[in-house]
Amino acid sequence: MLGIDNVVRRFGRQTVLNRVSLEVPDGKVACLVGPSGCGKSTLLRLVAGLDRPDDGQVRLRGTVISSPGWALEAHKRGLNMVFQDYALWPHMTVERIIGYGLKKLSVAERGARVKDLLDLMQIAPLAGRLPSQISGGQQQRVAIARALATDPDLLLLDEPLSNLDVQLRLEMRKEFSELFKRVGKTVLYVTHDPLEACSFADILVVMKSGEIEQVGSPEALFAAPRSRWIAMLAGFET
Ligand code: ATP
Ligand code: MG
Repeated sequence: MLGIDNVVRRFGRQTVLNRVSLEVPDGKVACLVGPSGCGKSTLLRLVAGLDRPDDGQVRLRGTVISSPGWALEAHKRGLNMVFQDYALWPHMTVERIIGYGLKKLSVAERGARVKDLLDLMQIAPLAGRLPSQISGGQQQRVAIARALATDPDLLLLDEPLSNLDVQLRLEMRKEFSELFKRVGKTVLYVTHDPLEACSFADILVVMKSGEIEQVGSPEALFAAPRSRWIAMLAGFET
């Protein structure tokens, strides 16, 4: 279970997150949606440990991983993040990128794990290529394979499809939905595209100006929307 307790984050005089609390049970996919600037990426970065809250805390599997004065070391947090621009190392081949976090394994074990991930993401033929030699959609798959490599409890994704063209987005949306079910990870997924969110969210988290406006299953939200914006989302249900 991921637990976010009364998290506050301020930048100068602006309160970007104002007592945000959220619980995501193990294996569930929570999608954060809301207009640009409402604090989605800030919240994700806090959970990832890339930033600290000014108040409140983040828990994963019962352990506090981030609080104002303290954060668990990155490799002990049990989570990985996929960035909007994928952030692949340009000088490494696809297979080295995916295996990078697996240095503790023997060469044979690492090779087997990387092969499984290449197969899972359907990119085996690209193993020896550099990021500059593959397409944006393929880079996206490599970034996800890398994030899954260390078998994290929690997967964080910030607008992972926003750099892809419309057709590819549609395909990846379907694929993500199946992938999330198959790998059984807890997922926190940020998007400002309601279609994307509604296609695979177990829990929809609607944010507005640094606060959570409404949270629940898509069905529950659409049955009793608290705002016109949320009511409009119902039209995107797939
Ligand atoms: P988008 O959908 O456009 O990505 P978002 O919901 O992810 O938006 P955030 O990136 O979380 O929004 O930003 C929320 C607010 O916090 C914005 O007003 C932004 O300018 C501000 N902000 C974010 N990071 C910082 C920072 N490091 N310093 C100052 N202000 C920041
Ligand atoms: Mg953002």
